Amino acid sequence: MRQSQLFTKTKREAPKDEESINAQLLIRAGYVDKLMAGVYTFLPLGFRVLKKIEKIIREEMENLGGQEILMPALQSKSNWETTGRWDALDSLIKFTTFYTKNEYALGPTHEEIVSPLMKKFILSYKDLPTAVFQIQDKFRDEKRAKSGLLRGREFIMKDLYSFHKNSEDLDRYYEKSKKVYANIFKKVGLGKITFLTFASGGTFSKYSHEFQTLTLAGEDIIYICEKCNVAINKEIINEQNSCPQCGAKDLKEEKAVEVGNIFKLNTKYSKPFNLVYKDEKGTEQDVIMGCYGIGLSRLMGAIVEALHDERGIIWPGSVAPFKVHLLSLKSQNSKVKVFAEKIYKDLQKEGIEVLFDDRDEVTIGEKFADSDLIGIPYRAVISDKTGTKIELKKRSESKTKLITGKDLIKFLK
Ligand code: ATP
Ligand code: MG
Repeated sequence: MRQSQLFTKTKREAPKDEESINAQLLIRAGYVDKLMAGVYTFLPLGFRVLKKIEKIIREEMENLGGQEILMPALQSKSNWETTGRWDALDSLIKFTTFYTKNEYALGPTHEEIVSPLMKKFILSYKDLPTAVFQIQDKFRDEKRAKSGLLRGREFIMKDLYSFHKNSEDLDRYYEKSKKVYANIFKKVGLGKITFLTFASGGTFSKYSHEFQTLTLAGEDIIYICEKCNVAINKEIINEQNSCPQCGAKDLKEEKAVEVGNIFKLNTKYSKPFNLVYKDEKGTEQDVIMGCYGIGLSRLMGAIVEALHDERGIIWPGSVAPFKVHLLSLKSQNSKVKVFAEKIYKDLQKEGIEVLFDDRDEVTIGEKFADSDLIGIPYRAVISDKTGTKIELKKRSESKTKLITGKDLIKFLK
């Protein structure tokens, strides 16, 4: 893509009302735009990052046997009354329309929709186990929305729901989901700082599990057991004061953000919706459920919080909007421009994702500053000084090297 065609512009200053690093950098670099507190537009660069994260998550959900669907965000009051959450859930956004006077909720999560949905299809033990997932906008009336993408009032979540004959089958699936989740966080570059944590389990099980990424921007406190490489949430520490896995008491306190959550629902939602199946003997049994969430937009914010320096974002290759940022620097020598154009076309031909800073009116200093701010993993510079070669630098390092166009392609492929 040509930067001269990109309608977004970088900004030197972040908006005054944005306190969080992720929102400041993402807005300045032109990844997102803020509509109001907790509500953002994803601009072309941001949309590309989101799609990369989505692809990684989708592949892993398919590994878990999930079938992708898309449920409505606009939801009827009666579904929420069935579980008692129309009145009980503080963050539920609900309203009455002017014309039809219908009462609706905007979905903050989808147990109230997926349970009656699957009731139409799960009839006997032969239909189990099964799992569905979606990647969709969620709405929550969050009290504070000052953490940029970490806490949206509209945000993007992947939610998977699994359905089982019995709790042993759910347990098996749940353990597999832990591995799949760990894979996702590794793939998006947060593997080393994302911990499986023990959280409270609600009425049906002792623990649920969260995936918490270390960051000072996080609103949660976790306690890491360095022996087990797992962590414990505050509410659990208050109860038992030790690692649930090994009993160790010397735990390290850290700030973190919850990027994922897996939960054994058991019959919490199947009971109110009468989601049952006929077992081998023809007897009706409750379907056992699990739910598994990841916030995609929060994950994008968490990556920026974890991977940046004073000059801008440092995207991991797996989610970067482009693989290489090609800069053609201002020159009196027309050969520079011709050479840069040729390299741009060659990279495209090879299928290497490239953002080409072909802007004429922009100074060299501004091009370098923009490149650091945008944070594409590799920067390739063509200027008067590079001659017939290209100066290649990794965003995360300071050393540069001169290579030929051929070697550049070989290296990036
Ligand atoms: P938190 O405790 O941070 O408010 P939660 O426990 O309410 O989160 P869940 O209901 O477990 O969140 O939602 C599943 C996932 O969706 C979370 O693990 C998180 O990644 C994401 N998520 C939840 N709330 C938000 C939000 N307001 N903005 C962005 N992502 C969110
Ligand atoms: Mg949670």
